[in-house]
Amino acid sequence: MVWFLVSLLLVVSAAYAAAVVLKPSEEFDPLVDGALGLVAMWVPAAVSWFTVCRAESRRPDILLSACAVSCWAAGTTYYVLYAAAGEDVPLPSPADFGYSGFYLLMLAALAFIVRDRLRAMTWSVILDSVIGALGAAAVLCVVLDPLLNSTMGGPWTPTALLGTGYPLMDLLLVATVIGITASTGFSFGEGWVLVVLGLLLFTGADVTYALLELNHDYVLGTPLDASWAVGLALVAAWIALQARTPGRHSRRRVAVPAQTVPTLATVAGLGVLILASQERVLVLAVVLASLTLTLAILPLVFRQRLRLSQATTQARTDELTGLPNRRALYADVPERLAAARRRRSAVLLLDLDKFKEINDGLGHDVGDRLLVQVAARLSGQLRPTDLLARMGGDEFVIHLDNCGQEQAQAVALKLRAALVEPCDLGDITVHVSASIGISCYPEQGQDLTLLLRKADMAMYSAKSTRSGHAVYADGAADLIPHQFHTVQALNEALLEDQLILHFQPKIDLATGAVRAVEALVRWDHPALGLLQPEAFLARFEEAGLMPALTNVVLGRALDQAAVWAKEGQPLSVAVNLSACSVMDARLPAQVAEMVSDRGLTPSVLVLEITEDVLVGDRSRASTTLSALRGTGVRIAVDDFGKGYSSLSYLRDLPIDELKLDKSFILTMMDDTRATALVVSTIDLAHSLGLQMTAEGVENLDTYRSLSDYGCDFAQGFLVSKPLTAPELDAWFQTRGPLPSAADYVPTASQAE
Ligand code: C2E
Ligand code: CA
Ligand code: CA
Repeated sequence: MVWFLVSLLLVVSAAYAAAVVLKPSEEFDPLVDGALGLVAMWVPAAVSWFTVCRAESRRPDILLSACAVSCWAAGTTYYVLYAAAGEDVPLPSPADFGYSGFYLLMLAALAFIVRDRLRAMTWSVILDSVIGALGAAAVLCVVLDPLLNSTMGGPWTPTALLGTGYPLMDLLLVATVIGITASTGFSFGEGWVLVVLGLLLFTGADVTYALLELNHDYVLGTPLDASWAVGLALVAAWIALQARTPGRHSRRRVAVPAQTVPTLATVAGLGVLILASQERVLVLAVVLASLTLTLAILPLVFRQRLRLSQATTQARTDELTGLPNRRALYADVPERLAAARRRRSAVLLLDLDKFKEINDGLGHDVGDRLLVQVAARLSGQLRPTDLLARMGGDEFVIHLDNCGQEQAQAVALKLRAALVEPCDLGDITVHVSASIGISCYPEQGQDLTLLLRKADMAMYSAKSTRSGHAVYADGAADLIPHQFHTVQALNEALLEDQLILHFQPKIDLATGAVRAVEALVRWDHPALGLLQPEAFLARFEEAGLMPALTNVVLGRALDQAAVWAKEGQPLSVAVNLSACSVMDARLPAQVAEMVSDRGLTPSVLVLEITEDVLVGDRSRASTTLSALRGTGVRIAVDDFGKGYSSLSYLRDLPIDELKLDKSFILTMMDDTRATALVVSTIDLAHSLGLQMTAEGVENLDTYRSLSDYGCDFAQGFLVSKPLTAPELDAWFQTRGPLPSAADYVPTASQAE
């Protein structure tokens, strides 16, 4: 689409230019210079506005640039209509409002780009731009010497002012664009060369116009007019390309040396001074040239210092979010603690839940945009005296000055509430939540390292209990998170039977019978107590120990299935497979062996995979799954509907069951769209010959509705929470017969 727009711009402006050059006389031609000329002005304006509407998020830089292009088009329209009537357009005229508007709005657009993307570099860019503009002004004074010295009254006439003002503004914009590009070496939108070329064309045309106008020689309808049209088309093409460039940072680098603008300006200034020593030039030119050199060369020390302070600011700033980074945190918090003496304060460690899934499933670009939004929302909740820093990844740290434990908890609540609204990332909406750990100064630590360590432990506790936030509890004082994270601790968990399984029953909605359970792993941690999978699965994954964990879980689940079979109450068990386990080519043989070793039939085992497994190496996943299915094991797609993959795998892969994600079930009673999705997913499953399980059934209304819609199985707290094997046996004893949903009454313990 973008390239279509760019081609359109170039074709229209080229057609106009060709028509102007080829027309027989230089007289004003209503068709070429009037109609076609105006089309060549308004097509760039239209393309710019189209870009504004298409841009993923509100981008003030694009909006202002579109206004600028429209201003120019409006100015020209006035000029052409006035001239078409056979009148001589005065200088200045209302058209000049349009032209001046173009320059001011373009400058404003560039200012937004500098502010949003360069932050720490702002002063350097401004200084470089000013030097560039001064150098350009010195040269212009020489080129436009006749105009400024004209018999019409010297440099202060409107002709002289506008005649030099326009080219000067052109060059100021060029200097700024090059300054921005050079200062950071970042890509100033893909088309920064286009905008520079366009503005240089403007400069040439403006200078020629000013010199012609000196003797009132300018007439409408010469190739000069085409230069503005082509220039405007190039600017609009840049705007169209801008919308594709991510708003904040791009990893693409452009090789423009940082000193380009000051160096060019210095050479220009020197040139003017050398010329002045040989020929008569305007005093103004000499003054401007001297100023350029002074600013560019003399305060080298000052510039050096400025660069240094910018470098420091940059080193302290997180490039993505613009927040202070880890380095800044470690530098500032100790100072803040010392300055506050014994005043209480709190450190909050905030970690996004399931960020990895979003990042892996939707791409790093989406993950980055999400982090930017999260950062903005969090900072919106804080006082100016609080410090918010990004530690890295999806971890943020907040230091709340002058704040006790209760207040810190209130802030944690506020921060979590700020993340409740889904994040609109342009083409996709994402839900996030966070877990926050709190530690308090001075009771729980005198220095940042200790406070952070304790906040980290509290955060894990918040994650594992899903409480959202937690204050560090002194009981866990001797546990250092470092130990908790070590590969050794994970290995011990595997070898010393610290991993245990809870089983959650799946009820048959038609009969009320329970013939299946899902095995869910827990870590009975020697120091932290019972940990939920969210608190540790990612660590196992990082340590490459996931296949080992899967092995342990499979072994224990099948052991338990064998016990139940022996007791005359056969239950099938579902085991969750992580992505890397599915990729493991040895898995089918292992599973077959484990099942037969225990004398079980393979259909007793269900393996649950999630959709994101299929996003990666589909063919490899498909090979393993087919081999697994070949052994007689059943395959279920877990968290169905939550993933972001296309549904084509349903056609290609061997699957027996879909487990609709609990987010749909939890909301289906209040949200008609969720209900519609549930109903149609049940139909989809059945028409593909698959069985359908609803997860997260928490109340009787949902249970009854699912039964009405023809769903096959339900799993959720209404039926039972995940229980240990002995608890599950007891549950079977106490639960009454459940012939159908209508008769189902939860027992007190299940309803809790
Ligand atoms: P999952 O496979 O979607 O498991 C269902 C989760 O939903 C369980 O959380 C269960 O406790 C919870 N749940 C059950 N009924 C309800 C309900 O009515 N309402 C709500 N709100 N939640 C309900 P759990 O046990 O914490 O497991 C979390 C996730 O950890 C699992 O999600 C699964 O993805 C992963 N996991 C658990 N065990 C294993 C394992 O052995 N291996 C692997 N690779 N992943 C596992
Ligand atoms: Ca599962
Ligand atoms: Ca699930």
